Amino acid sequence: MKKEYLYSPGPTTVPPEALSVMGSPMFHHRTKRYRDLFKEVTEGLKYALATENDVLSFTSSGTGAMESSMANIISPGDRVITVNGGKFGERWGEIARAYDADVDEIMVDWGKPVDPDEIKKRLTDAVKAVYVTLCETSTGVVSDIKTIASIVADTQAILVVDTISGLLCDDIRVDEWKVDIAVGGSQKGLMIPPGWAFVSVSEKAWALAESAKSPAYYLSYKRAKKSIATFDNPYTPAVSLARALKVTLGMIRQEGRENLLEHYLKLAKAIRAAAGALSLELFTQSPSNCVTAIKVPDGVDGTDLVKILREKYGVTFAGGQAKLKGKIFRISSMGYLNEFDILTAISALEMALGDLGYKFEKGSGVKAAQEVLSG
Ligand SMILES: *Cc1c(COP(=O)(O)O)cnc(C)c1O
Repeated sequence: MKKEYLYSPGPTTVPPEALSVMGSPMFHHRTKRYRDLFKEVTEGLKYALATENDVLSFTSSGTGAMESSMANIISPGDRVITVNGGKFGERWGEIARAYDADVDEIMVDWGKPVDPDEIKKRLTDAVKAVYVTLCETSTGVVSDIKTIASIVADTQAILVVDTISGLLCDDIRVDEWKVDIAVGGSQKGLMIPPGWAFVSVSEKAWALAESAKSPAYYLSYKRAKKSIATFDNPYTPAVSLARALKVTLGMIRQEGRENLLEHYLKLAKAIRAAAGALSLELFTQSPSNCVTAIKVPDGVDGTDLVKILREKYGVTFAGGQAKLKGKIFRISSMGYLNEFDILTAISALEMALGDLGYKFEKGSGVKAAQEVLSG
C-alpha cells in the first residue's frame, strides 16, 4: 500500500474539504450561483494579498498571470528592469524579451537576494516597470520586497512582484507596501490544483495599462475588469477550481494571515534546525519560509537522494533546477502542512541519507525539529 507525501514547492497537497467539492456536479457560469462564488473568491484573494486593488483572475498556471503583467503594461521598446536570481526571475527576462521590451536584467548570484540599492541605481526616468520575485522558488531565497517597493514608489515606474510561491508564507502587503501588480497562482500556498492565476492591479498600473501597445486578448486586464464589475469572467472560468478555492480561502481566513505567517515561519525554522543537526548546509542566508533549499552533502548523489525519497518512501521533495541540479534539494513548508508533516519529512530525509551512506546520528534531525515545533 503506497501512501504519498508531497513536499514539492508546487503543486502542494489539497485539503480533503477542497478536493471533495471539485467532484460535485457541474453548473453553468452565467448564473447568480457562479457570480456569488466568484465574488467570494475575489474577496478572499484580496484578503490574502492585503489589498483593496482590483484582483483579476485567469484560467492559466501562474506563468499566464506573469505574462499578463507584461502584455498589459509594456509597449515594444519600453525599458523594464527584471531581477534574475534563479529560474523564476530568469522567466521575467524571457517574457520581457518576448514582448520586445528593452530589458535591463539584474543578474544576482543564485542563493542571494537582490540588493535593493542595485534596483535604485538603475531606476532612470525611462524605466516603466520593475519585475521581481518574492520567493525565488528555485533557490529558496526571499527578497526584501518592502524596501524595493518603497524605492519604486518614489518613481514613475510600477513594481510587479511574483508572489506565486511566497504568498501567505513570506509576508507581502500589497497596499501598505505599494506593490502595483502582485502575481499569484493556485497550486502553492493556496492549496488547490494548478490552473487558477490572478493579479492585483493598482491605480498606477491601470494608468500604464491604458496606454500599453502590446497585444493582449485572453489575458486583457481591460476585458477582465469590465466583466468583474458584475463578477463575471469574459470566458469560461475554471468553475471546479473556484469551488475549491472558496474552501481553502475560507480556511485561510479562519486561520488569519498573521497566524499563518507565524505558522510557516515555525515550520521553516524546524527544517533549518534539522538541517543544522544533520550537518547539512542551507543554500541561502536569506531563506524563504515557503521552501527550504539545502545543499547536498559531499559523497551523496543529490539525484539519488530525491529518487529514493520518492520511489522507496513515497515522499516527494524537489531537487535542484538547471545549474543547481544534483547540488541542492528543496523541502516545501507551504500550504496544507503542519508540525507532524514536517517531522515526517525530516524522518524520511534521515532514512534516505542513511541508505546513501551519509554518516550522522539517527534521530538528531527529528529531535532538533521537534524542539522548534514544540516550543
Ligand atoms: C511555481 C512558480 C511559478 C510558475 O508557475 P506555473 O504555475 O508553473 O506557471 C512562477 N514563479 C514562482 C516563484 C513559482 O514558484
